[in-house]
Parts: sequence; C-alpha cells; structure tokens
Amino acid sequence: MYEYQAPESLLQDKIILVTGAGSGIGRAAALSYAAHGATVILLGRTEEKLDAVYDEIEAAGYPQAAIITLNLETAGETDFDNLAATLEQEFGRIDGILHNAGILGTRTPIESYDPIIWQQVMQVNVNSTFMLTQALLSLTNDSEDASIIFTTSGVGRTGKAFWGAYAVSKFATEGLMQVLADELEHNPNIRVNAINPGATRTDMRANAYPAENPENNPTPEEIMPLYLFLMGRDSRSVNGQSLNAQ
Ligand code: NDP
Repeated sequence: MYEYQAPESLLQDKIILVTGAGSGIGRAAALSYAAHGATVILLGRTEEKLDAVYDEIEAAGYPQAAIITLNLETAGETDFDNLAATLEQEFGRIDGILHNAGILGTRTPIESYDPIIWQQVMQVNVNSTFMLTQALLSLTNDSEDASIIFTTSGVGRTGKAFWGAYAVSKFATEGLMQVLADELEHNPNIRVNAINPGATRTDMRANAYPAENPENNPTPEEIMPLYLFLMGRDSRSVNGQSLNAQ
C-alpha cells in the first residue's frame, strides 16, 4: 500500500468534487476527504446512493456535503457549464477534483467489440472527464492550492487482450493527465496527477473477475492513503505523475 499518514486536518476548508461518489472507491474517497475536513461535492448518476453518502457524512459530523446528480454518459457542454455556474455561485472556487467515475464496458476481443458500448465507455471515462475538467478549470484557478486527480488502470499503461474500450479509455486518461499537467507546469497553485487504484474490492472488480474471491483484494478504504496524499498540500510539488495506490 502507498505509505502516507494524513494529518487529521489535511483538507480543512477545502472544496472537493468527487465523481462516482455513490459507491466503490468514489464513496470511500468522499468519506475520507470529508473526514479530513473537506466540504465534498458528491457527483454521480444514482441519487439514492449519493443521498446515502451525504447522510453518512452528516451523521459523522463532517462538513456538510453537496449533491449533484448527473449522468456523465448523456451530459453535454451546457450541463457542464451550468454545473460550473452553480458551483461558482455556491462555493466561489474548487480546490480539488477526483475524476473517479468509470464504466467497464464488456471484456470482448476488438474484432467483435460492440461500437455502441465502445462509445459509451469513451463518453463516460474520457469525453465527460475532459468536459468536466474544462468547465471547472476557471474555478480551480481561483484556488491557492488545487489538485486534479484522474483515475487510471494497469491496462491503461500496457494493453491487455479483451479489455477493449476500457483499456483504451485509460490510455486516453493518462494522456489527458499528461497534457494538462504540462500545460499547468508553471502554475505552482495547481497539480494534475493520476491514480491507479490496483485490484480493489468493488462492484466493478467483481464484474471484471467474477471467479475471484473478493476478500483477497483490499477494500476502497484501505487504498485511501494515496488519494489523501495527492489531494492534500504534501503533494504540492508532484505534477504529471501516474501513481499506484497499492
Ligand atoms: P464502481 O463500478 O464500483 O463505481 C463506479 C462509480 O462510477 C459508481 O459510483 C457509478 O455510479 C459511477 N458512474 C458510472 N457511470 C456513471 C455515469 N454515466 N455518470 C455518473 N456516474 C457514473 O467502480 P470502482 O469504484 O471499482 O472504480 C472507480 C474507478 O477506479 C474507475 O474509474 C475504475 O475504472 C477505476 N479502477 C478500479 C479498479 C478496481 O479494481 N476496482 C482497478 C483499476 C481502476 P452508480 O453507482 O450510480 O452506477
């Protein structure tokens, strides 16, 4: 596991958006960021799941969260612009974005990969990530210490048979991270990096590896040290890196 012990107040007064915050790794990150003092904006497509995370944050006495229900598969430029305008009005700035939402698609050879599923995966994992980042950049520019984190995968660094659009989308995510990090290289107030969570006990992992015993993989809570490190001030000098949470 990535070694980092986060101070309790690491994210005090920070405003952090987490996509796919209703379940899996995104839920754990939202709770962990809130536990370290952040006001977390929970973005996802299933309102009940976001409500449940909101309630958990409230019950724990962490800073009150906000909910944005948005389907990243169908959202267009106007939706992202409206979202940015709402956040500007509510918060005035954004200190952190964790691009975590993603879909697996199917595990199929390229020869028979369904083009519709291909486009869905690229839309959720890459295109919406680009559009959301673009819409929020002026808000992260208003932060004195902003961090943008993308979510990659081992198959986004070395292609693997049958991983199709998912693998290609993660290669693209690594590319987006590198291009943006280079563009912002001379801005000391913002950093852009990627996390490869590694095999983690979530619904997506269970769908990808139905025969495996989930107990053998760490829980989302266990992989949080890197998520905290990259979001907090201790990573200020880290930019353009793709790091492993395990
Ligand atoms: P899950 O499938 O458990 O969670 C994915 C989250 O993304 C869910 O909250 C889901 O919402 C949300 N989401 C999916 N589609 C959309 C959409 N169209 N609009 C808005 N939100 C959406 O996955 P994990 O937690 O396992 O994965 C999180 C990230 O980590 C992903 O980017 C994944 O690729 C990556 N990853 C995971 C690994 C693992 O072993 N688990 C390994 C390597 C990378 P809802 O619950 O409503 O469907």
